[in-house]
Amino acid sequence: MKILDALQNPIFPLVGRLADEAGLRAFVIGGYVRDYFLNRPCKDIDIVVAGSGIDLAERVARELKTNVTVFKNFGTAMIHAEDIEIEFVGARKESYRFDSRKPVVEDGTIEDDQLRRDFTINAMAFGLNRDNFGELSDPFGGIRDLNDLRIQTPCDPDKTFSDDPLRMVRAVRFATQLGFDIAPETFDAIERNRERIGIVSRERIITELNKIVMAEVPSAGFELFDRCGLLEFILPQLARLKGVEYVNGQGHKDNFIHTLKVLDNVARVSDNPWLRWAALLHDIAKPQTKVYDPEQGWTFHAHEYLGSKMVKGIFRELKLPLDERMKYVQKLVALHLRPIILAENVTDSAVRRLLFEAGDDVDDLMTLCEADITSGIEAKVKRYRQNFALVRQKLKEIEEKDRIRNFQPPVTGEIIMETYGLKPCRTVGEIKEKIKDAILDGAIGNNYEEAYALMEQLAQEKGLKPVAGTNEKQP
Ligand code: ATP
Ligand code: MG
Repeated sequence: MKILDALQNPIFPLVGRLADEAGLRAFVIGGYVRDYFLNRPCKDIDIVVAGSGIDLAERVARELKTNVTVFKNFGTAMIHAEDIEIEFVGARKESYRFDSRKPVVEDGTIEDDQLRRDFTINAMAFGLNRDNFGELSDPFGGIRDLNDLRIQTPCDPDKTFSDDPLRMVRAVRFATQLGFDIAPETFDAIERNRERIGIVSRERIITELNKIVMAEVPSAGFELFDRCGLLEFILPQLARLKGVEYVNGQGHKDNFIHTLKVLDNVARVSDNPWLRWAALLHDIAKPQTKVYDPEQGWTFHAHEYLGSKMVKGIFRELKLPLDERMKYVQKLVALHLRPIILAENVTDSAVRRLLFEAGDDVDDLMTLCEADITSGIEAKVKRYRQNFALVRQKLKEIEEKDRIRNFQPPVTGEIIMETYGLKPCRTVGEIKEKIKDAILDGAIGNNYEEAYALMEQLAQEKGLKPVAGTNEKQP
């Protein structure tokens, strides 16, 4: 079968011609071929060469007058042509030792190379030489599995996963991204080999995990992780959210199922990976804070604060960034109950405080809170939605009126210290805090004059005298 349609980019005949000239056999393989049949856009092209991939890459780069990046140790080379990345690799045969996912590599044929690929749908190749240009090579039934929506290994799955356990996570990742099922024998082998994931570096796992988080329906991946027993190894804190406990016939909701619904709800409206992570972690401290109270039923007091504290440890373990992206997740987890409380009783001062604390992330916080409504009782859902709409409306009004978002109190600690000749001390902090509270409570406006007047009044009450020459200094 020849499929010329897939190779319309002029790069393919070019690679083929240069391969012919050099006496090499070249194929496009893996993701590009799979995504062609799935009608998915594909930014990277992987070329496998029987012989030296680096040699062919250098010839192509010369012809295109572009740079080539060579990774000698891996026998690979990379070219950027317009906005696509083309990777060249020599066909190889791999054998593995038990304690490492780094194989012993020898030169091999194209068939050897297809055999070392992770899944049947990733092992298909198109020929690029003149005599087989556009010819599909599909030795393991990749097309059949694409049609059946199935993730399956080309060889014995126990060997595939034991050789390189990262492939277990990749199976879940592709199933999630593509909406496929994992074939039963493949799935069972993941279950059997799950502990082998311990030899895989966290960096490799998080790359796959983030692709799951960014999928259209990310819950599918976490459900699969749970079913095959990988969740315990990958995100044990999430596994602990599972299950329902009963006291006096009263149960709470299953927080694992709830969390996945919230994640999917966020995924439906936002492509922000960190907002998705916040959804995944928003209730992470519920198991530790769970208490049954005979009067109130199940309670999870302060789970938002403890959860926010847990974010750093989780990010560190997973090798997620520990910068402002983590701080954003911490903040959203810490504040995730605030709009709900607010929705019960919308006052101007509570809205100002929320705006002050959430700053620019207030819209994302509202998105998370709306996603957090997973009740099955329609009247309840409707009431919450209406209340949140009211909160959003109020946020907008107060924002326009008072400019509270990211506000800094107009009278700073420095001004207070200078005016009264003070060193940093509790008195300065108290005055500053009272000015901030007065603005947030709406007692005074968010401006320098009113704040300065309040400072003078507070200072007088404390018996402070201004130092000469500093009166009414503008900031
Ligand atoms: P994506 O769209 O995510 O880039 P992809 O299929 O291109 O999907 P890559 O991780 O870029 O995935 O890998 C390229 C190809 O290399 C795969 O299609 C597969 O054939 C092969 N491959 C990648 N990782 C492995 C692995 N751990 N074991 C075996 N084969 C692998
Ligand atoms: Mg790729």
